[in-house]
Amino acid sequence: MTELPRIPLAGVIGSPIAHSRSPALHGYWLKRYGLKGFYIPMDIAQADLAEALRTLPKLGFVGINVTIPHKEAILGMADIITDRAALIGAANTLIFRKDGRIHADNTDGAGFIANIRQNAPQWNPAAGPAAVFGAGGAARAVVAALIEVGVPEIRIANRSRPRADVFRSDFGAKIAVYEWTQAANMLEGAATVVNTTSLGMTGKPDFRVPLDALERGALVTDLVYTPLRTQFLIEAEAAGATIVDGLGMLLHQAAPGFERWFGRRPEVDDATRQAVLSA
Ligand code: NAP
Repeated sequence: MTELPRIPLAGVIGSPIAHSRSPALHGYWLKRYGLKGFYIPMDIAQADLAEALRTLPKLGFVGINVTIPHKEAILGMADIITDRAALIGAANTLIFRKDGRIHADNTDGAGFIANIRQNAPQWNPAAGPAAVFGAGGAARAVVAALIEVGVPEIRIANRSRPRADVFRSDFGAKIAVYEWTQAANMLEGAATVVNTTSLGMTGKPDFRVPLDALERGALVTDLVYTPLRTQFLIEAEAAGATIVDGLGMLLHQAAPGFERWFGRRPEVDDATRQAVLSA
């Protein structure tokens, strides 16, 4: 009797997980390309993480996405870690290899860059310094990616200063740390401006910074994508900036995992955006 191939399973682990848009996104791509497979949200507590990683491959999982709060801890449980995941200190995409080893990557930075390139093709990262607000986990992926694409200087400010200071030792001489209360000064001459704080998310206070020094034509993006047009982006656009919302980063960071698990590189286009927005 010929053995039927196993239907590939993938998913996202985090806690909480109900808010995640990833199941809608992967589910849409599976349907669009007529592929066999399932993508499942899983609320897994920190204490159960190691056991989950042992069990999931046996159940037919070919890989998973990892989100808050497990992105850092998961690195210590992987067998192969890409250079960029090691530099960032976190992983968001795991591949369960046939040889039993777990491969960990971080695609957030590549997703961040792909989103800007798709929506603002004229963007030139080498045109001037970047100003990065916030120094959390997502900021590490953003800064690593900005360095990789040739941004000459990265200015960073964070409410808790020590978290920003670590960037100087981890990412080197291109990093200039500013006081949170002086963060608006980072905008002077900046060609790229990024909000990586969680401020501006629905239910949280807006992210606000005086924009007097913002260069007309600077590229301004926000990692927050609920709402899609944050107050920060609205004000930056009114001040003459080119703006890019954060949803495309979510879509682009998901594409490499989908390709590895289900065997087809998915398109990130308007139909994909609409599918996620309407889910
Ligand atoms: P995180 O590690 O918890 O970092 C949160 C950041 O926000 C820190 O810099 C924190 O500053 C700052 N912050 C929070 N509340 C603040 C306040 N009241 N005033 C000033 N700063 C405040 O989270 P993360 O993983 O980096 O995620 C950050 C944001 O990016 C979230 O909104 C997340 O949803 C979004 N994100 C989006 C994508 C995407 O695909 N678009 C991908 C990843 C993340 P302190 O260090 O001082 O607390």
